[in-house]
Amino acid sequence: MRRGSASTFATLLAAALVIASAVAGSAQQKPGAAAPDISYMVSMSKPHTHLLEVEIRIHARPTARLESDLVMPVWTPGSYMVREFARHVQDFAATDAGGKALTWTKLNKNTWRIRTLGASDWRATYRVYANELSVRTNELNSDHAFWNNAALLMYPEGFLGAPSTLQVIAPQPWRVATGLPPVPGQKNTFRAENFDVLYDAPVEVSNFKTLSFEVKGVPHRIVIDGEGNYEPERMRSDVKKIVETQVELMGGEIPYRDYTFFLHLRSNAGGGLEHRNSTALGYPSFGFGPERDEGGSAAAPAGPPPRTYRGFLSLVSHEFFHLWNVKRIRPDALGPFDYTKENYTKLLWVAEGITDYFDRLMLRRADLISEQDYRRDTAKAIQDLQKTPGRLIQSAEEASFDAWIKYYRQDENSVNSQISYYDKGAILGLLLDLEIRKRSERSLDDVMRYLYNEFYKKDRNYTPEDFQKVCELMAGASLEPFFSRYVRGREELDYNGAFAAAGLYLDTSGAADNSKRPAEKAYLGADLAQEQDRLIVKRVYAGSPAYEQGLNAGDQIVALNNMRANKDFFDARMAERRPGDLITLTVFRFDSLSSLPIKLGRTEGGSYRIVTVENPTAAQRRIYESWLRAPLSK
Ligand SMILES: [Zn+2]
Repeated sequence: MRRGSASTFATLLAAALVIASAVAGSAQQKPGAAAPDISYMVSMSKPHTHLLEVEIRIHARPTARLESDLVMPVWTPGSYMVREFARHVQDFAATDAGGKALTWTKLNKNTWRIRTLGASDWRATYRVYANELSVRTNELNSDHAFWNNAALLMYPEGFLGAPSTLQVIAPQPWRVATGLPPVPGQKNTFRAENFDVLYDAPVEVSNFKTLSFEVKGVPHRIVIDGEGNYEPERMRSDVKKIVETQVELMGGEIPYRDYTFFLHLRSNAGGGLEHRNSTALGYPSFGFGPERDEGGSAAAPAGPPPRTYRGFLSLVSHEFFHLWNVKRIRPDALGPFDYTKENYTKLLWVAEGITDYFDRLMLRRADLISEQDYRRDTAKAIQDLQKTPGRLIQSAEEASFDAWIKYYRQDENSVNSQISYYDKGAILGLLLDLEIRKRSERSLDDVMRYLYNEFYKKDRNYTPEDFQKVCELMAGASLEPFFSRYVRGREELDYNGAFAAAGLYLDTSGAADNSKRPAEKAYLGADLAQEQDRLIVKRVYAGSPAYEQGLNAGDQIVALNNMRANKDFFDARMAERRPGDLITLTVFRFDSLSSLPIKLGRTEGGSYRIVTVENPTAAQRRIYESWLRAPLSK
């Protein structure tokens, strides 16, 4: 069910059907050095030990080099944290082709230097402990194996641009699934044209289930390991709708030969990691039920896993959109990659945040959520952002740049000093989309298509300046105030300035309808959690009564007004309090007991809503319809 989008020159440019494409620009090879033949063999003879066995065979051209280095990546693209994969390596050894041991030494934490003495054929073996299931780590046990090649396979220094093969020795009756193309005639053997491709292809080895479908003749499969309460036919058909909707958005061509959704179902699984023609997804086994309450379907990798079917579709939509936004439309520093250290970019708010924006917009356009669902989720996301004191401390660009040390390493103060480039980025995407639509017939859809055609297809990465320019090109006007205030700056966002374009406004009064304002509620400004029999302060919001009057994260609340308190008791008593009331908290801070009087503040209790303006104009109706693919309702 698609309406034709505003036709653009970007659509006209998107002509040819590209079947397969290469990671561009991976000339990460030492000048003058001929690439050796590199082959990997991964086996798992004792799955219960969690040890994956790796053999690397190098067949080099005749060389005068006496030494060769093997390097283990410290991170894997898409997950912006140094994870030190080398810490799981053990039993390293190297030999020549005849099996004679070669001496080696470790050069640093993740580099092994082998005295090859000019040998043209040599090999190295090692084992990797694999006992952590996440989308970016490795797991081997008696049920299955799943790994990320960046967390398993060392590369020969200087040859990141070289092709290699990967052979998997799978125990019977396990099968092998990966996005890498197979080598014809060789069982479970795959080929990668360079290391960015090799490291971009996770591998599942198990008795997985497969759900298959085709879009425009291109095969897609959902590879499922684990059990859960999903309905296979509904999942197949809804995931297919997401693929079709996004392919249409991006101009109709499919830039891969085949696509694999790896899905791990476990009681505590969550998160997703994008790849060029696959994605790894984790989801709670029994998380496929209907919505339990309004809103609440955001799919942020670092947050608690979403636990409804809508949350699952949002996760699929997010990771699939990445095949364009970040894997092909590449920010400056993200590809070709340096696997030995942080790769800094100010653009994660685009790569992740705008992906988050499109993830839900695509669900709406695919009719997998209603426009009311969309409005409710968006209002909740805005309210969550406005509740975060860190929004005034850290810009979207700063949040992107410092992802390695901040977003991925959060603590109790993060809410006060940081903003999520996912959450703010998604809202910036929404506002930018409406700002462009307000000024021209174009939209953020056109921005993404333009970046795809003019940057990815021309083998260029884009910079923050490029992104702003492309947005301005589509808007037909300068957007400098928007970028300087909201992207590079930390000013409060002008929601209603943007929503007006589509005949909407943000109602922050907390009233359930337009007629009545709710009573203001007493406000403490701290998040509490019940941990066994202890009521613990998890975080305290900067500027709140709790913060200013001395409550600390980590405090154990023993009593409220001298009555023993657990979470239920505390919440019930607080609901009875009025703004301005004085309460007394008895707290253990470390091992000392003390009494803390706090004067409560006030908050507007209810939920934000996105509502339709009185008497929307024809132009507002038109923008709303082309944006959400639904008529503007009351
Ligand atoms: Zn993402």
